[in-house]
Amino acid sequence: MSDSNEDDSALPTGVERRQFGGESRLVTRGEPVYGEPTDGDWRCWDARRSKLAAMLEHEMDTGLQGDETVLYLGAASGTTVSHVADFSGATYAVEFAPRPTRDLLDVAESRDNLFPLLKDARKPATYAHVVESNVDVVVQDVATRGQARVACENRQFLKDGGRLLLAIKARSEDVASDPEAVFDHARESLKEEFEIVETRRLEPFHTDHLGIVAVPR
Ligand code: SAM
Repeated sequence: MSDSNEDDSALPTGVERRQFGGESRLVTRGEPVYGEPTDGDWRCWDARRSKLAAMLEHEMDTGLQGDETVLYLGAASGTTVSHVADFSGATYAVEFAPRPTRDLLDVAESRDNLFPLLKDARKPATYAHVVESNVDVVVQDVATRGQARVACENRQFLKDGGRLLLAIKARSEDVASDPEAVFDHARESLKEEFEIVETRRLEPFHTDHLGIVAVPR
């Protein structure tokens, strides 16, 4: 791996773009989690395994600077949220399936700013007493029906001027519909609570996914 960074001015502090095995890769610094390539403290952040990394690869206007407080919805076993915790402040990770949450607890062992919560993101009242209000960023990747509604229900945690970084998986809403129709509907539903800053399809990293950056109204 090269010691010199490439142009990473659009990346949050703590995320770099480095030559790794002859390829330019995003990296964060932390304990490895999912068998990702490492060099010293640096670990590759694979955009094919992470919608947020795909949004950064596409240079979307995430507004991430590093050190933000984050509410992450749909943490699974911690692939993406482990990287987020590497460059953020307090990171609350909501996941409703017990099995991946057990893995997530292991990931949190080496990250004292990562707080796994076995909770349903459709029921924010069940974790409102734990998650601080006024987080800087909500990241959402739940890949389940009603993705825009989940985002709207969790708007209460986001400070004014904060950002929603959302991945919408078309097939999770309706396998039969045209993805563009699903995305139009999601954008429309979000307008209740958010103003959309930018949207972008996440190909070639994720098929039929839309990345959305939005700010609360
Ligand atoms: N974001 C993860 C990553 O990049 O490492 C992958 C997330 S996976 C696509 C979607 C996850 O959301 C699954 O683990 C699923 O159990 C979880 N999920 C779906 N609906 C949820 C809900 N209502 N509340 C909490 N988690 C949910």
